[in-house]
Amino acid sequence: MNLKPDVVVIGAGAAGLMCALTAGYAGRRVLVLDHANKAGKKILMSGGGRCNFTNLATQPANFFSANPHFCISALKRYRPEHFLELVERHAIEHVEKAPGQLFCVDSSRPILDMLLTECDWAGVGIHLKTEVTRVERCGEGMRLESSLGRIDSGAVVIATGGLSIPTLGATGFGYDIARQFGLAVTETRAALVPFTLTSQFKERVAALAGVACEVEVSCRGGRYREPMLFTHRGLSGPAMLQISSYWRPGDELVIDLLPGIDAFEALTEARRHTPKRRLSSWLGERLPKRLAQALVEWHGGDGTLAEQSNAELQAWRERLNAWRLKPAATEGWRTAEVTLGGVDTEAISSKTFEVAGLAQLRFIGEVLDVTGELGGYNFQWAWASGVACGLAL
Ligand code: FAD
Repeated sequence: MNLKPDVVVIGAGAAGLMCALTAGYAGRRVLVLDHANKAGKKILMSGGGRCNFTNLATQPANFFSANPHFCISALKRYRPEHFLELVERHAIEHVEKAPGQLFCVDSSRPILDMLLTECDWAGVGIHLKTEVTRVERCGEGMRLESSLGRIDSGAVVIATGGLSIPTLGATGFGYDIARQFGLAVTETRAALVPFTLTSQFKERVAALAGVACEVEVSCRGGRYREPMLFTHRGLSGPAMLQISSYWRPGDELVIDLLPGIDAFEALTEARRHTPKRRLSSWLGERLPKRLAQALVEWHGGDGTLAEQSNAELQAWRERLNAWRLKPAATEGWRTAEVTLGGVDTEAISSKTFEVAGLAQLRFIGEVLDVTGELGGYNFQWAWASGVACGLAL
């Protein structure tokens, strides 16, 4: 066992493994430590089990951060095509499920296997089930106390990720280390997470569990046109996960159930041409049948279009084009895909990921205050920050 490495990477997730193999190929002796019993658990869970490993259209605008410029350098130097080239070299079957979003065809496993194989080829040592209890500066390098014993190394890279899904090994370790060395940590919030509803709405919505439709949802300047899914607990699906990154407790969501259609104009037109048509039938042609039926029940019953006054059609425009809903909360860390906020990038180099004035300590991946939208951006950030740091070590 090599306990005198050049670099210790704490966290065997996406960013940590990518950083380790890059530094290993550059000739560094690298040790990766993780407290979990398996490496890359989030990779295995990701993308519904099929890992949305990158997004070909990745831009800095796809990321939230107190410093929106911080991610530019790494993303520019390690692009989605670079990761794709690695994936293709390992003959991993993949598919573009939505524009730009690349997924594995069968399972996420080959992505993790690829990273572990590359780490092996690069001579990286990986120690799982290893607790790190202390990180401190020691002469020109760093000293760790761990369940493997004392480890002295030239540099330590913190790649312990965010707080989401504690059962997959998430901890606040990286934030504690940042604070220990005098770095700020911006407010952390669960993001890319479903919403729960107040009891008033919960029962209504639970009856629709499994129903999905495309919506346009907005909140605090964020706006997404994507599918929404009704669940037993509330609202989910890409539209809701995306907007959760903007939402704050107490905020209302505005949901357009008929994006691109002005419901008042369309209903007025339909009333003129097909006055005997029932409202539920008109709705059922544009929305999932169960949702259409539920809407007429919630709002006072069915009737022919001719029976609907202008005021009633205006009310339907509100319900259909601007359904205002105040979620009770989000499902929180238990199911969130990512953490918004994290180690403040102010004191971190966007080129090398070292801490200003302490090049022996670096932070990469999700532990930093850089969070992507849904669609493969978070892994692209993990790969890009890992490579940039690994090359600079
Ligand atoms: P992580 O991958 O979280 O790795 C951190 C590692 O540090 C873990 O192995 C953990 O065990 C270890 N660790 C934590 N604390 C300690 C400690 N105290 N001591 C030692 N080790 C520690 N992003 C996408 O781009 N596409 C997707 O399809 C996608 N799907 C997702 C699905 C789910 C269910 C979840 C939860 C996330 C998903 N994400 C997806 C987000 C993506 O997984 C993360 O952004 C990414 O894994 C972050 O990489 P990371 O290396 O920074 O952190």
